[in-house]
Amino acid sequence: MTASTDFHSAAGDDVGESGHYLPGERNVPLENRIFINRNLRLDRVRALGFDMDHTLALYNRETFEQLTFDLAMDNLVEWKGYPDAIRSIEYDPNFIIRGLVVDKTYGNLLKMDNHDYVARATHGTRPLSKAERKKRYRGLRINLRSDRYQSFDTLFSMPEGALFAKLVDLKTDQPRRGPLKNVKVSQIFGDVRNCVDKVHRDGSLKSRIMADLERYFIRDDRLASTLQRLCAGGKKVFLVTNSEHDYTHAVLSFLLNDQAGDWRSLFDLIIVDSRKPGFFTQKIAPTPIPTDGFDTIYQGGHAAFVEEYLGANGDQVLYFGDHTYGDILRSKTSVGWRTAMIVQELEEEVAVNESQVYHRRELADLISRRKDIARDLDQTRLLMSVMDGMVGYPQTQTNGIPPWTRGYARRQLELFHAMDGGERSDHLRRIRHTAEGLQFLMDQTVARIRVLERDMAHAHNAVWGPLFREGNELSRFARQVREFACIYSSRVANFMNYPVNYYFISPEERMPHDV
Ligand code: IMP
Ligand code: MG
Repeated sequence: MTASTDFHSAAGDDVGESGHYLPGERNVPLENRIFINRNLRLDRVRALGFDMDHTLALYNRETFEQLTFDLAMDNLVEWKGYPDAIRSIEYDPNFIIRGLVVDKTYGNLLKMDNHDYVARATHGTRPLSKAERKKRYRGLRINLRSDRYQSFDTLFSMPEGALFAKLVDLKTDQPRRGPLKNVKVSQIFGDVRNCVDKVHRDGSLKSRIMADLERYFIRDDRLASTLQRLCAGGKKVFLVTNSEHDYTHAVLSFLLNDQAGDWRSLFDLIIVDSRKPGFFTQKIAPTPIPTDGFDTIYQGGHAAFVEEYLGANGDQVLYFGDHTYGDILRSKTSVGWRTAMIVQELEEEVAVNESQVYHRRELADLISRRKDIARDLDQTRLLMSVMDGMVGYPQTQTNGIPPWTRGYARRQLELFHAMDGGERSDHLRRIRHTAEGLQFLMDQTVARIRVLERDMAHAHNAVWGPLFREGNELSRFARQVREFACIYSSRVANFMNYPVNYYFISPEERMPHDV
C-alpha cells in the first residue's frame, strides 16, 4: 500500500485535533502517518539508524510464519522426539497477537492491560472463562522477570506462540493417553522455544528464505528513496541488524538494489550480527568485513562506536526498530538515542478502527446514557428509602427529612411529608415503579454496550481484541509503545510523507481533571 501524497503542496493550511500545526498531513492516509508520543525535531537529528528484520525488511507474514512453524514442528519431532501425530496441528495465523505473555507453568496465554493485570487469557487456544481467569490471576501483577513468564515482543514470536498453544490443546484433550502423554505442560514452551531458536540459528530457516525471497518479503518501491532523501538532507544513515552478513546482503539486495544500484551505497555504516540488546549495553569489538570495495561494513560493535564513527551523540541519533525491548527500550534507556518504532500491524488496526466510527459514536452515546440512568436510579432509590423511613412521621413534624438533603430531593421530601397516609402509599408505589423502569432501561443499555464492545473487539481479533487497547484502557503493548517510542508508524517508507527536517509535535497530554 502506498500513500500518493503531495505533502508540500498542502503545507501551511492544516491544524491537527490538538491544535498543533501539521502542515499537509491531512492528505496522508491514517495508516501511512507517523504517530508521535514525544516531540522530535528532525533538524536536531544527525544520524538515522535502522534495524533490518521487520523494520526495513517487512516479511510477508503468512508465508514466513508458516515456514517457521513448519520447520519448528520438524525439529520437535526429529530433534525433541515428539510423536509424528503432532504434525496434524495446523498454523492459525490469526490466533496470536504481539504483546501476549506466556504462562509456561500452566500452558496459558495472557493479554495484559495498561496496569499489567490479566484482562484476557486462554489455556492453549481456548479462552478461559472470567471465573477461571479470576481464580488463577485475580489481583496478580505478572512479574515478567520471573522464569514462569515470557512476552512476545516481536513478530518472530507469532508462530512460536501458535505452535505452543496448539500443543497445549493436544495435551489437554487427552492428558494421559494422547500423543503428548509423556510431556508435561510446563515443558512444552521450552521445547518449542528451543526449536524456533534452532531454526533461526542453524541456517535452515534462512536458506529456505534466501532461495525464494520474493515469497517471503514485501517490496516497497519507496524504501530506497526514503533513505536517499535522508542522505540528501545531510543526515548520516546506518544499519544495525542482528542478522548475519550473508542474509542481510541477500535480503537488502533483493529489496533495494533495483531502486538504488547497490544497497550498501545507501548506508554510511553497516553493522551486522550486532547482538542487540547487548549492542547497547556492552563494548563488543567491531570487526571490519571489507567487501566489494565497501569499507563501511562491520560485524558486531557497540553504540559508542557508531556515535564516534558518525559524529552524532545521544539524542542526535534516531533509531528505527520493531522490537519493543531489544531495539526501542534499550536504545532509549541505555544510550539516550531517540526512537522510532515500526509496528507493521498498525495498518490493519487503523483500518478496523476507521471502519468503526459509527459504532464508536453509538458507544459514546450509550455510555453517556448509562451515566444519566445511573444517576437517576441512584436518586430515585435514595428518595424511596428515605420516604420509607418517613412513613411513620406525622405530617406536623419535619424532622423525618434528613438535614443533608438538598435541591430537588428536598422539595420531593417536603411534598411527601405534607401528604396523608393514603397519598404517601400511592406516591411510594409510583416511585417504586419509576425505579423498576429505570432499572430495565439500565439493563438494556448495559447489554447493548456489552454486545457493541464485544463486536468491536472481535473485528480486530476474535480472541484477543485490538492490539493497542483492552476494554477502555490501553493494552500493555500500547503502553510500552507510548512509553519507549518517541514516534511510531507502520513502515519506514511512510517517512516519505514528511519533510526531512520535520518537527514532530506530540498531541497535548491530558489528566482526567483537565478541562
Ligand atoms: P534484527 O534485524 O535486529 O531485527 O534481527 C533479527 C534477527 O534475529 C534475524 O536474523 C532472526 O533470524 C534472528 N532471530 C529472531 N528470533 C530468533 C531466535 O529465537 N533465535 C535466534 N535468532 C533469532
Ligand atoms: Mg527487527
